[in-house]
Amino acid sequence: KSTNGQITAADVDKEVHHFPPCMRHLQGTLAEQGHMRHSGRIQYGLFLKGIGVSIEEAMVYWRRAFRHLSDDKFQKEYAYNIRHMYGLEGKRTNYSPYSCNKIITSNHPGPGDNHGCPFRHFSKEQLVTSLQQQKLGEEDVGSITELSDQGHCQLACTRHFEITHRARLPTTGASIAVERIIHPNQYYDQSVALVTK
Ligand code: SF4
Repeated sequence: KSTNGQITAADVDKEVHHFPPCMRHLQGTLAEQGHMRHSGRIQYGLFLKGIGVSIEEAMVYWRRAFRHLSDDKFQKEYAYNIRHMYGLEGKRTNYSPYSCNKIITSNHPGPGDNHGCPFRHFSKEQLVTSLQQQKLGEEDVGSITELSDQGHCQLACTRHFEITHRARLPTTGASIAVERIIHPNQYYDQSVALVTK
């Protein structure tokens, strides 16, 4: 982090272990492909704004991430959208990061899109593979997919949080005390708070 507590462009990829599955997926896709479609850029870009990435750092981050583009093309086709997210263009609306409810219920991703919620929009096979890649064991994968199969996406995400933060969570009696996940930035903030406790 920079000295004023903001997340710099260089820090973003080091924060991934605090990201919820939807944002891990977007970060991973961007790193792999060097490109991302509009809806993914908005979902991920507003999340980054919410964790403390300034407009200046966002410009640096996205310019580096879109590594196949010339400066000229980046400036012409993408810089406006990034400034727009920060309320510096168009109607100058200060857009908020999307909630889980918005991500889960609106703008269903089509082929080639990467936005959305893994617990709602991934196939079962894709979700299982993604959880296994995060080194989750069979039993944990099963307890998460059982919830997403029933349509309980945010409960599945809360379970994901519990499992991936198990070692640091306080316990209340037999149950683990964790707030239900309703927002990707809440997932991030809760994760950071546990580690910096
Ligand atoms: Fe992201 Fe919310 Fe889905 Fe979790 S439940 S993966 S935070 S959209």
